[in-house]
Amino acid sequence: MSAVPQITLNSGVTIPQLGFGTYQVTPETTKDTVLSAFEVGFRHIDTAQMYRNEAGVGNALKESGLGRGEVFITSKLNNSFHRYEDALRAADESLAALGVEQMDLFLIHWPLPTIEVDYVETWKAMIEIFESGRARSIGVSNFQVPHLQRLIHETSVVPAVNQIEVHPYLTNETVRAFGKEQGIATEAWSPIAQGAVLEDPVLTEIAERIGKTTAQVTLRWHIQRGDIVFPKSVTRFRIEENFSLFDFELTDQDIEAISALNKDQRTGPDPDSFDYIPH
Ligand code: NDP
Repeated sequence: MSAVPQITLNSGVTIPQLGFGTYQVTPETTKDTVLSAFEVGFRHIDTAQMYRNEAGVGNALKESGLGRGEVFITSKLNNSFHRYEDALRAADESLAALGVEQMDLFLIHWPLPTIEVDYVETWKAMIEIFESGRARSIGVSNFQVPHLQRLIHETSVVPAVNQIEVHPYLTNETVRAFGKEQGIATEAWSPIAQGAVLEDPVLTEIAERIGKTTAQVTLRWHIQRGDIVFPKSVTRFRIEENFSLFDFELTDQDIEAISALNKDQRTGPDPDSFDYIPH
Protein backbone atom coordinates (compact mmCIF):
# COMPACT_ATOMS: atom_id res chain seq x y z
CA MET A 1 0.00 0.00 0.00
CA SER A 2 1.29 3.47 -0.83
CA ALA A 3 2.23 5.76 2.02
CA VAL A 4 -0.06 8.48 3.35
CA PRO A 5 0.88 11.82 1.69
CA GLN A 6 2.32 14.53 3.92
CA ILE A 7 1.30 18.18 3.71
CA THR A 8 3.67 20.97 4.74
CA LEU A 9 1.95 23.62 6.87
CA ASN A 10 2.93 27.31 6.87
CA SER A 11 4.80 26.59 10.12
CA GLY A 12 7.14 24.29 8.16
CA VAL A 13 5.74 21.29 10.05
CA THR A 14 4.48 18.29 8.02
CA ILE A 15 1.16 16.62 8.74
CA PRO A 16 -0.13 13.29 7.38
CA GLN A 17 -3.03 14.13 5.05
CA LEU A 18 -5.05 11.23 6.47
CA GLY A 19 -5.64 10.92 10.20
CA PHE A 20 -8.06 9.45 12.71
CA GLY A 21 -10.95 11.39 14.32
CA THR A 22 -12.04 10.84 17.91
CA TYR A 23 -15.23 12.90 18.36
CA GLN A 24 -17.80 10.76 20.20
CA VAL A 25 -15.24 8.10 21.09
CA THR A 26 -15.92 7.65 24.80
CA PRO A 27 -13.18 8.32 27.35
CA GLU A 28 -13.41 4.64 28.40
CA THR A 29 -12.87 3.21 24.91
CA THR A 30 -10.46 5.75 23.44
CA LYS A 31 -7.22 3.99 24.34
CA ASP A 32 -8.21 0.73 22.63
CA THR A 33 -9.78 2.46 19.63
CA VAL A 34 -6.69 4.59 19.02
CA LEU A 35 -4.44 1.55 19.48
CA SER A 36 -6.50 -0.15 16.76
CA ALA A 37 -6.00 2.87 14.50
CA PHE A 38 -2.23 2.75 15.15
CA GLU A 39 -2.18 -0.98 14.29
CA VAL A 40 -3.92 -0.28 11.00
CA GLY A 41 -1.33 2.41 10.21
CA PHE A 42 -2.82 5.77 11.21
CA ARG A 43 -0.18 8.18 12.55
CA HIS A 44 -2.28 11.32 13.00
CA ILE A 45 -4.89 11.64 15.73
CA ASP A 46 -7.43 14.47 16.05
CA THR A 47 -8.75 15.05 19.57
CA ALA A 48 -10.10 18.01 21.58
CA GLN A 49 -10.58 19.11 25.16
CA MET A 50 -14.33 19.00 24.50
CA TYR A 51 -14.20 15.27 23.61
CA ARG A 52 -12.86 14.44 27.12
CA ASN A 53 -10.64 11.75 25.61
CA GLU A 54 -7.17 13.33 25.41
CA ALA A 55 -5.96 11.06 28.23
CA GLY A 56 -7.09 8.01 26.25
CA VAL A 57 -5.11 9.24 23.24
CA GLY A 58 -2.09 9.81 25.48
CA ASN A 59 -2.38 6.34 27.00
CA ALA A 60 -2.62 4.76 23.55
CA LEU A 61 0.49 6.64 22.48
CA LYS A 62 2.37 5.42 25.53
CA GLU A 63 1.23 1.82 25.16
CA SER A 64 1.82 1.67 21.41
CA GLY A 65 5.58 1.90 21.74
CA LEU A 66 5.59 4.45 18.91
CA GLY A 67 8.06 7.30 19.24
CA ARG A 68 6.67 10.76 19.93
CA GLY A 69 7.95 11.94 16.54
CA GLU A 70 6.05 9.17 14.73
CA VAL A 71 2.56 10.41 15.64
CA PHE A 72 1.00 13.77 14.82
CA ILE A 73 -1.37 14.92 17.58
CA THR A 74 -3.90 17.73 17.29
CA SER A 75 -5.99 19.03 20.15
CA LYS A 76 -8.39 21.96 20.43
CA LEU A 77 -9.07 24.63 23.01
CA ASN A 78 -12.45 24.27 24.67
CA ASN A 79 -15.06 27.02 24.32
CA SER A 80 -14.90 27.83 28.04
CA PHE A 81 -11.25 28.90 27.83
CA HIS A 82 -11.23 31.80 25.38
CA ARG A 83 -9.73 34.32 27.81
CA TYR A 84 -5.95 34.76 27.47
CA GLU A 85 -4.88 33.28 30.80
CA ASP A 86 -7.48 30.51 30.63
CA ALA A 87 -6.19 29.47 27.20
CA LEU A 88 -2.59 29.17 28.45
CA ARG A 89 -3.71 27.10 31.43
CA ALA A 90 -5.91 24.91 29.23
CA ALA A 91 -3.01 24.23 26.85
CA ASP A 92 -0.97 23.01 29.83
CA GLU A 93 -3.86 20.76 30.83
CA SER A 94 -3.98 19.27 27.35
CA LEU A 95 -0.24 18.55 27.49
CA ALA A 96 -0.66 16.85 30.87
CA ALA A 97 -3.66 14.78 29.71
CA LEU A 98 -1.90 13.74 26.52
CA GLY A 99 1.33 13.02 28.41
CA VAL A 100 3.44 14.93 25.91
CA GLU A 101 5.68 17.99 26.10
CA GLN A 102 4.42 19.49 22.89
CA MET A 103 1.31 19.19 20.73
CA ASP A 104 1.86 19.08 16.99
CA LEU A 105 -1.14 21.30 16.38
CA PHE A 106 -3.43 23.21 18.73
CA LEU A 107 -6.61 24.86 17.47
CA ILE A 108 -9.25 27.28 18.72
CA HIS A 109 -12.22 24.91 18.47
CA TRP A 110 -14.92 27.51 17.65
CA PRO A 111 -14.77 31.28 17.03
CA LEU A 112 -17.85 32.03 19.21
CA PRO A 113 -18.25 35.45 17.55
CA THR A 114 -21.30 36.36 19.63
CA ILE A 115 -19.75 35.92 23.09
CA GLU A 116 -18.11 38.62 25.16
CA VAL A 117 -14.52 37.40 24.77
CA ASP A 118 -13.08 38.40 21.43
CA TYR A 119 -11.47 35.51 19.52
CA VAL A 120 -8.55 37.82 18.64
CA GLU A 121 -7.63 37.78 22.36
CA THR A 122 -7.78 33.98 22.21
CA TRP A 123 -5.59 33.97 19.09
CA LYS A 124 -2.99 36.10 20.92
CA ALA A 125 -2.87 33.40 23.60
CA MET A 126 -2.43 30.78 20.87
CA ILE A 127 0.56 32.77 19.57
CA GLU A 128 2.05 32.63 23.08
CA ILE A 129 1.33 28.88 23.18
CA PHE A 130 3.28 28.51 19.93
CA GLU A 131 6.15 30.80 20.96
CA SER A 132 6.56 29.04 24.32
CA GLY A 133 6.90 25.69 22.52
CA ARG A 134 3.69 24.11 23.82
CA ALA A 135 2.57 23.52 20.20
CA ARG A 136 4.59 23.15 16.99
CA SER A 137 1.79 24.74 14.98
CA ILE A 138 -1.35 26.68 15.85
CA GLY A 139 -4.58 27.10 13.95
CA VAL A 140 -8.31 27.51 14.19
CA SER A 141 -11.47 25.56 13.58
CA ASN A 142 -14.84 26.66 12.28
CA PHE A 143 -13.56 30.13 11.37
CA GLN A 144 -15.40 31.95 8.58
CA VAL A 145 -13.62 34.29 6.18
CA PRO A 146 -14.27 37.51 8.18
CA HIS A 147 -12.97 35.81 11.34
CA LEU A 148 -9.77 34.77 9.57
CA GLN A 149 -9.36 38.24 8.10
CA ARG A 150 -9.49 39.80 11.56
CA LEU A 151 -6.84 37.43 12.97
CA ILE A 152 -4.50 38.14 10.09
CA HIS A 153 -5.15 41.88 10.09
CA GLU A 154 -4.81 42.33 13.85
CA THR A 155 -1.90 39.97 14.62
CA SER A 156 -0.17 39.27 11.26
CA VAL A 157 0.01 35.61 12.33
CA VAL A 158 -1.69 33.37 9.78
CA PRO A 159 -3.22 30.17 11.21
CA ALA A 160 -1.53 26.98 9.96
CA VAL A 161 -4.90 25.28 9.46
CA ASN A 162 -8.62 25.94 9.55
CA GLN A 163 -10.59 22.82 10.45
CA ILE A 164 -14.10 23.17 9.00
CA GLU A 165 -17.06 21.02 8.06
CA VAL A 166 -16.57 19.75 4.50
CA HIS A 167 -18.20 16.84 2.68
CA PRO A 168 -20.07 16.35 -0.60
CA TYR A 169 -23.24 17.99 0.78
CA LEU A 170 -21.30 21.02 2.14
CA THR A 171 -18.28 21.70 -0.06
CA ASN A 172 -17.55 24.98 1.74
CA GLU A 173 -15.77 26.43 -1.31
CA THR A 174 -15.54 30.06 -0.16
CA VAL A 175 -13.73 29.29 3.09
CA ARG A 176 -11.49 26.71 1.36
CA ALA A 177 -10.56 29.17 -1.38
CA PHE A 178 -9.69 31.91 1.11
CA GLY A 179 -7.52 29.41 3.00
CA LYS A 180 -5.71 28.45 -0.18
CA GLU A 181 -5.05 32.08 -1.04
CA GLN A 182 -3.59 32.76 2.44
CA GLY A 183 -1.61 29.53 2.85
CA ILE A 184 -3.97 28.10 5.49
CA ALA A 185 -4.42 24.32 5.08
CA THR A 186 -8.03 23.13 5.15
CA GLU A 187 -8.93 20.20 7.38
CA ALA A 188 -12.32 18.68 6.53
CA TRP A 189 -14.32 17.56 9.57
CA SER A 190 -17.19 15.06 9.33
CA PRO A 191 -15.69 14.05 5.96
CA ILE A 192 -18.45 11.50 5.30
CA ALA A 193 -21.09 13.73 6.98
CA GLN A 194 -21.32 11.15 9.78
CA GLY A 195 -22.64 8.67 7.22
CA ALA A 196 -25.28 10.93 5.62
CA VAL A 197 -23.67 10.85 2.16
CA LEU A 198 -23.01 7.12 2.00
CA GLU A 199 -26.14 6.11 0.08
CA ASP A 200 -25.99 8.91 -2.42
CA PRO A 201 -26.63 7.51 -5.95
CA VAL A 202 -23.72 9.44 -7.52
CA LEU A 203 -21.28 8.04 -4.96
CA THR A 204 -22.83 4.57 -5.23
CA GLU A 205 -22.40 4.54 -9.03
CA ILE A 206 -18.72 5.52 -8.78
CA ALA A 207 -18.08 3.06 -5.93
CA GLU A 208 -19.63 0.14 -7.84
CA ARG A 209 -17.75 1.03 -11.02
CA ILE A 210 -14.33 1.04 -9.33
CA GLY A 211 -14.95 -1.65 -6.71
CA LYS A 212 -14.61 0.57 -3.61
CA THR A 213 -17.08 1.61 -0.89
CA THR A 214 -18.88 4.96 -0.95
CA ALA A 215 -16.92 5.95 2.19
CA GLN A 216 -13.63 5.28 0.40
CA VAL A 217 -14.76 7.22 -2.67
CA THR A 218 -15.76 10.19 -0.51
CA LEU A 219 -12.51 10.17 1.47
CA ARG A 220 -10.51 9.86 -1.77
CA TRP A 221 -12.41 12.88 -3.14
CA HIS A 222 -11.18 14.92 -0.15
CA ILE A 223 -7.61 13.69 -0.61
CA GLN A 224 -7.55 14.59 -4.31
CA ARG A 225 -8.97 18.05 -3.52
CA GLY A 226 -5.98 18.54 -1.22
CA ASP A 227 -7.79 18.70 2.13
CA ILE A 228 -6.64 16.93 5.30
CA VAL A 229 -9.16 14.36 6.64
CA PHE A 230 -9.58 12.22 9.77
CA PRO A 231 -12.63 9.95 9.57
CA LYS A 232 -13.81 8.55 12.91
CA SER A 233 -14.79 4.93 13.40
CA VAL A 234 -14.87 2.60 16.37
CA THR A 235 -15.37 -0.39 14.05
CA ARG A 236 -12.19 -2.27 13.14
CA PHE A 237 -13.15 -3.18 9.56
CA ARG A 238 -14.15 0.43 8.87
CA ILE A 239 -10.92 1.74 10.38
CA GLU A 240 -9.11 -0.52 7.88
CA GLU A 241 -11.40 0.55 5.04
CA ASN A 242 -10.83 4.23 5.80
CA PHE A 243 -7.06 3.74 5.65
CA SER A 244 -7.14 2.05 2.22
CA LEU A 245 -7.33 5.12 0.02
CA PHE A 246 -4.06 5.07 -1.85
CA ASP A 247 -4.40 2.21 -4.34
CA PHE A 248 -6.95 3.93 -6.59
CA GLU A 249 -7.68 7.32 -8.11
CA LEU A 250 -10.83 9.18 -9.10
CA THR A 251 -11.06 10.84 -12.51
CA ASP A 252 -11.49 14.61 -12.78
CA GLN A 253 -15.01 13.93 -13.97
CA ASP A 254 -15.79 11.89 -10.84
CA ILE A 255 -14.35 14.65 -8.64
CA GLU A 256 -16.54 17.24 -10.37
CA ALA A 257 -19.65 15.05 -10.11
CA ILE A 258 -19.10 14.64 -6.36
CA SER A 259 -18.44 18.36 -5.84
CA ALA A 260 -21.69 19.09 -7.69
CA LEU A 261 -23.62 17.29 -4.91
CA ASN A 262 -23.18 20.37 -2.70
CA LYS A 263 -26.38 21.63 -1.14
CA ASP A 264 -24.85 23.73 1.67
CA GLN A 265 -26.23 21.22 4.17
CA ARG A 266 -24.51 21.23 7.55
CA THR A 267 -24.42 18.26 9.93
CA GLY A 268 -23.05 20.49 12.71
CA PRO A 269 -23.76 24.01 14.05
CA ASP A 270 -23.37 27.24 12.11
CA PRO A 271 -20.08 28.86 13.24
CA ASP A 272 -21.57 32.37 12.97
CA SER A 273 -24.14 31.69 15.68
CA PHE A 274 -22.76 28.76 17.70
CA ASP A 275 -22.21 29.93 21.29
CA TYR A 276 -22.16 26.74 23.37
CA ILE A 277 -19.98 27.01 26.46
CA PRO A 278 -19.56 23.82 28.50
CA HIS A 279 -19.52 24.13 32.29
P1 NDP B 1 -17.34 11.20 10.18
O1 NDP B 1 -17.78 11.91 8.94
O2 NDP B 1 -15.92 10.78 10.31
O3 NDP B 1 -18.31 9.96 10.40
C1 NDP B 1 -18.26 9.13 11.53
C2 NDP B 1 -19.46 8.18 11.50
O4 NDP B 1 -19.44 7.42 10.30
C3 NDP B 1 -19.48 7.20 12.63
O5 NDP B 1 -20.84 7.00 12.96
C4 NDP B 1 -18.88 5.94 12.05
O6 NDP B 1 -19.45 4.79 12.65
C5 NDP B 1 -19.32 6.04 10.60
N1 NDP B 1 -18.31 5.49 9.67
C6 NDP B 1 -16.99 5.72 9.68
N2 NDP B 1 -16.37 5.11 8.66
C7 NDP B 1 -17.33 4.45 7.98
C8 NDP B 1 -17.32 3.62 6.83
N3 NDP B 1 -16.19 3.34 6.19
N4 NDP B 1 -18.52 3.12 6.40
C9 NDP B 1 -19.68 3.40 7.06
N5 NDP B 1 -19.75 4.18 8.13
C10 NDP B 1 -18.58 4.70 8.61
O7 NDP B 1 -17.78 12.16 11.40
P2 NDP B 1 -17.10 12.89 12.60
O8 NDP B 1 -18.08 13.92 13.01
O9 NDP B 1 -16.61 11.95 13.62
O10 NDP B 1 -15.86 13.67 11.95
C11 NDP B 1 -14.54 13.17 11.90
C12 NDP B 1 -13.65 13.87 12.90
O11 NDP B 1 -13.61 15.28 12.64
C13 NDP B 1 -14.16 13.81 14.34
O12 NDP B 1 -14.02 12.53 14.91
C14 NDP B 1 -13.36 14.90 14.97
O13 NDP B 1 -12.04 14.46 15.20
C15 NDP B 1 -13.42 15.96 13.88
N6 NDP B 1 -14.55 16.91 14.09
C16 NDP B 1 -14.24 18.21 14.38
C17 NDP B 1 -15.23 19.13 14.60
C18 NDP B 1 -14.86 20.54 14.89
O14 NDP B 1 -15.73 21.33 15.29
N7 NDP B 1 -13.62 20.93 14.73
C19 NDP B 1 -16.66 18.78 14.56
C20 NDP B 1 -16.90 17.39 14.20
C21 NDP B 1 -15.86 16.52 13.97
P3 NDP B 1 -18.70 3.82 13.72
O15 NDP B 1 -17.79 4.68 14.56
O16 NDP B 1 -19.84 3.25 14.49
O17 NDP B 1 -17.94 2.80 12.91
